Amino acid sequence: MLSWSIATVTMGGTLETKLSSAARAGFRAVEIFENDLTFFNGKARDVRTMAEDLGISIIALQPMRDFEAMPEAIRARNFERAQRKFDLMDELGTSMLSLCSNVSPDVINDPQRAAADLAALADLAAQRGFRIGYEALAWGRYVHDWMQAWDIVRIADRPNLGIVLDSFHAIQRGNPLPPMAKIPADKIALVQVADAPNILMDAMSLSRHHRCFPGQGDYDIQGFLEAIVQTGYSGPVSLEIFNEQFRGAPASIIARDGMRSLQVCAEKLQAAMPDKAPSISASVTLPKPSKIGGVEFIEFVTGGGDAPRLTQILLGLGFTRVAKHKSKNVELYRQNDLNIVLNLEQDGFAHSFYLVHGTSICAIALAFDDPKRALERANALGETTYFGRMGPGEATIPAVRGVENSLIYFLPKHDGKATIWEQDFVATGDQAPEGPLKHLDHFSNVVRRSEFLSWLLFYKTVFAFENEPQVELADPYGAFFSRLIGSAEGNVRIPLNIGDGGSTGVSRFIDTFGGGGIQQIAFSTDDLFGFVKKARAAGVEFLAIPENYYDDLESRYDLAPELLAQMRELNILYDRSETGEFFQIYTATFDDRFFFEILERRNYTLYGAANTPVRLAAQTHMQDVARQERAMFGG
Ligand code: MG
Repeated sequence: MLSWSIATVTMGGTLETKLSSAARAGFRAVEIFENDLTFFNGKARDVRTMAEDLGISIIALQPMRDFEAMPEAIRARNFERAQRKFDLMDELGTSMLSLCSNVSPDVINDPQRAAADLAALADLAAQRGFRIGYEALAWGRYVHDWMQAWDIVRIADRPNLGIVLDSFHAIQRGNPLPPMAKIPADKIALVQVADAPNILMDAMSLSRHHRCFPGQGDYDIQGFLEAIVQTGYSGPVSLEIFNEQFRGAPASIIARDGMRSLQVCAEKLQAAMPDKAPSISASVTLPKPSKIGGVEFIEFVTGGGDAPRLTQILLGLGFTRVAKHKSKNVELYRQNDLNIVLNLEQDGFAHSFYLVHGTSICAIALAFDDPKRALERANALGETTYFGRMGPGEATIPAVRGVENSLIYFLPKHDGKATIWEQDFVATGDQAPEGPLKHLDHFSNVVRRSEFLSWLLFYKTVFAFENEPQVELADPYGAFFSRLIGSAEGNVRIPLNIGDGGSTGVSRFIDTFGGGGIQQIAFSTDDLFGFVKKARAAGVEFLAIPENYYDDLESRYDLAPELLAQMRELNILYDRSETGEFFQIYTATFDDRFFFEILERRNYTLYGAANTPVRLAAQTHMQDVARQERAMFGG
């Protein structure tokens, strides 16, 4: 049976914090990174007691470096060094020392010599009841592939010496994974897993800065673990992540993310290898993801003088106020199947959100085939359930926390009207019009770089979303990264945009908003030109696009002059793909906080990324003008 472990280097903070965070997340084993011990204000024996009190076993001390195949003078010193490590292991109460392949310029290229050194070390370790694990570092001077490390372990041939298999090194080096399945299970000392993005970079920099949890990168962790399971190995699988973003985040969040990443690894393994399921993991089996029926509603919170401005935009976009909540100051706006909830309460969750963030999107509601199971899955992955305040006889809507403490509600999918609307709302008498806006195409999440991987993992594990590769987009004040994630059904799509400081539009949003959040909501229409004309007449302000953009369009595409003139006049943006055409427009940003995009797809499946730089430049220009006005006239 595989068990889960985490290396202390993965988390930030003091060793006490790391151990207690790991325990709270459900880990029963850790590898102690030697630096953590060096910086610990106390004795190794205290660490042992602390771990024991938390119910955690210390499976290894790591790593010992530059040991094997050294010239004679250094060799003798290395064996003395090893004895001191053994003393430390005694105090720590761990029985395994993990060794990584030599990177020193002094190392001799001689596998026989390396094997002899490891055999001698294993014999010394045996006297004290210890085991040795040997790992090929991708940037080891002569030993950098797992096959080489395995040869050396085999030649050394000691019962207490095994290989450490680390997914990062094997996959970064392009090593074959299936042959790992032939390694005898008792010769595997430890298995380490780390994912990484597919970016071109030297192995050491990639390893030190970009390692991440399985599911957060692009590596074939599944293939790696399948080979491990086939060996019959039953022991710890340990997360060993070097990443300063991880160490900068709260250890509790990183430990929870690590556990949820492993839970989903186990789920995928069990699905791929049902005959081996009992040997895969003892951790709680996750409830299967529920099918998603789409976004049932988007909830805005507003108040004071903002409310009429927001209402005017909603009406201008074609929404009608169709109902009012029975007991709360909450209104429902609708067109077609699109629901927007406007929360004007003076207390409770939404109002607190308003006090912190101002007028903004405080919640979204997802519809599920089986919302109960979807919520149980979220809980099994470490999410707590939140219940909104309810009046007598009103529906209970459970939720979990989304980006920046917004909420994600879990609702049942419905074939006609959702019950919550009938149960909790009173109709105003106005019927929802068919309206120009047909579907919610996508909505963005803006997150800080340090939180990005955590949110990516949240959506991928809790809702089983899939992701597309990361793209980089130019901004007048820098660049930002974006990664599209979405439901398998294709009915929920979220570009996750990463703010990385500086003055980019994404970073400005984080500054103004006081954190991450939903910045953009995109609706689709069948007739963008007709829609814009009506919305303008209704007082909706759109983002002004610079003239040069249209001159450039003219030179790039053979567009009909009347069409181009209309786009220029209405501030509509254009893109074309191999399959079709795309028209889009943006509303003026609401107090630098959020904006709507309305788009018309004509056989076009992309997102108009080519227009993102001009949109960002136009938004920046509008914001700069507004700022100058405020500076001049106050307000
Ligand atoms: Mg490793």
